[in-house]
Amino acid sequence: MNTIVTGGAGFIGSHLVEHLISLGHKVTVLDNFSTGRSENLDHLIKKIKLIECDLNNEDKLNKMLENVDWVFHLAALADIVPSIQDPQKYFNANVSGTINLLKACSANNVSKLIYSASSSCYGIPSVYPTPEEATINPQYPYALTKRMGEELVMHWSHVYNIPAISLRFFNVYGPRSRTSGTYGAVFGVFLAQKLADQPLTVVGDGTQTRDFTFVSDVVDAIYVSAKSNIKNKIFNVGSGKSISINYITKLLNAKTVNIPKRPAEPDVTFADISKIKSELNWQPKVSIEEGIKVLLDNIEYWGNAPIWTPETISQATKDWFHYLSEK
Ligand code: UDP
Repeated sequence: MNTIVTGGAGFIGSHLVEHLISLGHKVTVLDNFSTGRSENLDHLIKKIKLIECDLNNEDKLNKMLENVDWVFHLAALADIVPSIQDPQKYFNANVSGTINLLKACSANNVSKLIYSASSSCYGIPSVYPTPEEATINPQYPYALTKRMGEELVMHWSHVYNIPAISLRFFNVYGPRSRTSGTYGAVFGVFLAQKLADQPLTVVGDGTQTRDFTFVSDVVDAIYVSAKSNIKNKIFNVGSGKSISINYITKLLNAKTVNIPKRPAEPDVTFADISKIKSELNWQPKVSIEEGIKVLLDNIEYWGNAPIWTPETISQATKDWFHYLSEK
């Protein structure tokens, strides 16, 4: 297939590109390199087309999608704090960018669009495991803009007949997980701390749990969604388990320090994955123990990542505490 991966230089995107190439598909990566890193694709550079392109460049986008079969939309701005500080930037990237891509998809009659949605749309769920029909309740601009993108994709697929699937990812982790300057996903933070022999900063008492999903399982879910005849549906993608932060620090075998509990974050995330299991015949394969072993085998990757301390985290999350604390 002729495929496009937006955000292909990012964490999940680069793994997807690897998988598509290994199966003999043609891949063009579109990335504006705002957070994506071309190094993530160094090992594949001879086998792909890598194009610097912002999704708000409509003309370029339209040309890029000529004769494309599958479009995988992974380009987005992530992270909570910067989304609170500059919601317009998040709207432009995650909402306007998605509209432009949708327009190009319908103009070029693509045969499948896969949207990477976020489990953050559920906010603080009241049902566990959380099914796709649970209440939607985004808590901060990043979550809202990813949800708006999803609504656009579902609406477009219905009105303009673009066969699309939205996948709601739960806490994806694995090699090349983001290490950007902003305080971000837990594994990037912990692995850089471990490498520098600094204590892992455990939020609260560490008993909170997350549905950590290994990136190869996510890539698999994306791929089966593209191949399937099923369209215009939303699926959760999770590991089938919810694991405590204390168990993660035990597996990482490092010293810890506790930092304040953060507002507006759930004590538990846990996907109900019965729908994707039965309709797409997908299931997660990688246990947390296996996944963490792969991370530890690749720990040098986080050698250049920022090393967060309780003090720098407290500074970096000021707006988070300010705006999201219960009013
Ligand atoms: N976490 C932690 N220490 C950190 C960063 C995160 O203990 O320095 C915890 C956080 O409380 C949450 C989990 O790790 O329970 C995952 O956090 P992340 O920000 O990666 O994703 P979230 O599920 O909050 O979107």
